[in-house]
Amino acid sequence: MTTCIRCILPETFPGITFDQDGVCNFCLAFRGQERLDAERERMREKFEQLVDEVRGLSTYDALMCYSGGKDSSYTLSLLRKQLDLKVLAVTLDNGFIPDQTYINIRKVCDALCVDHLLVKPRFDVLRRIFAAASERTLYPRKTLERASTICTSCIAFVKFGALRLSIEKEIPIVCYGWSPGQAPTVSSVFKHNPAMLRSMQRTLYDPMHEIVGDDIRPYFLEQKHFNDPSKFPHNASPLAFYEYDEDKILEEITPMGWRRPKGLDANSSNCLLNSYANLVHKRQFGFNPYVWEMANMVRTSQVDRRSALDRITSEEESSTLGSVVERLGVTIPLARQEEDPALQADKPG
Ligand SMILES: [Zn+2]
Repeated sequence: MTTCIRCILPETFPGITFDQDGVCNFCLAFRGQERLDAERERMREKFEQLVDEVRGLSTYDALMCYSGGKDSSYTLSLLRKQLDLKVLAVTLDNGFIPDQTYINIRKVCDALCVDHLLVKPRFDVLRRIFAAASERTLYPRKTLERASTICTSCIAFVKFGALRLSIEKEIPIVCYGWSPGQAPTVSSVFKHNPAMLRSMQRTLYDPMHEIVGDDIRPYFLEQKHFNDPSKFPHNASPLAFYEYDEDKILEEITPMGWRRPKGLDANSSNCLLNSYANLVHKRQFGFNPYVWEMANMVRTSQVDRRSALDRITSEEESSTLGSVVERLGVTIPLARQEEDPALQADKPG
């Protein structure tokens, strides 16, 4: 398998080409660290200005999508300690949260004096969606370059659930703990556009609605939420423009009582389903769904190439896989499947 000599993207990644030295087109298109730093500075200013504008206008200044993982724990700490915001932390419980993560959430929220809300959708609904997502690719190919079908389904619940809550509670900013490799800097602070959201929601909602019907309505936006566009919040991914250093993140959250849960793969610090989701994606597409994120971080020297490669090629946690398969009522996929013909439909030509 050919892998870019500069980042870690493999030849199986959609749209990749290599020059004669073995450098991929994504690395060649990278505009350089200096421009990225300037962009980050611009977004940080934009975010801090927004924060000053909305502070105190509502009961909460920000809603934090809080998974309990290390990055979102650190983001929550930034919002509280550095920016002194009133934050409502919201966790979506997908049925695969490790016991240690519940403890981490409680400890971090207590240490930071944050109100916390746990949203736990019916497991029978989630189970049917995850089981379907492990058998076929539910969404357009483009959405699956950066996350597995299972992750994309789960994140749809997180995103639209957070939007729904923020509109209903009139919270002006929704924050995410996306790493700088996951959140493009240029779009790390923006105001939500209702028309665009409606079409984004449809792309994700419709395939899930086909599986479980109206049972997913409570977690997404309904017509009433679209009636007043002025209530749509801003979206921010602070780790895209504040310093991101894994050692410093652990230094910050460990004294609050945060501990890494056991039974997780190297790419997640909060979800037991992740290993299985990665395995399914690798068998379907031939690349790890975290490779895009890690390649971005290698390019910007936020992770060194060796450890990024180790992380991408590490084995799934077999003990965790067994229990996931049992709870979802699915099987472990054995070999890379033939490309789903449905995926060809959205390709040009
Ligand atoms: Zn590359």
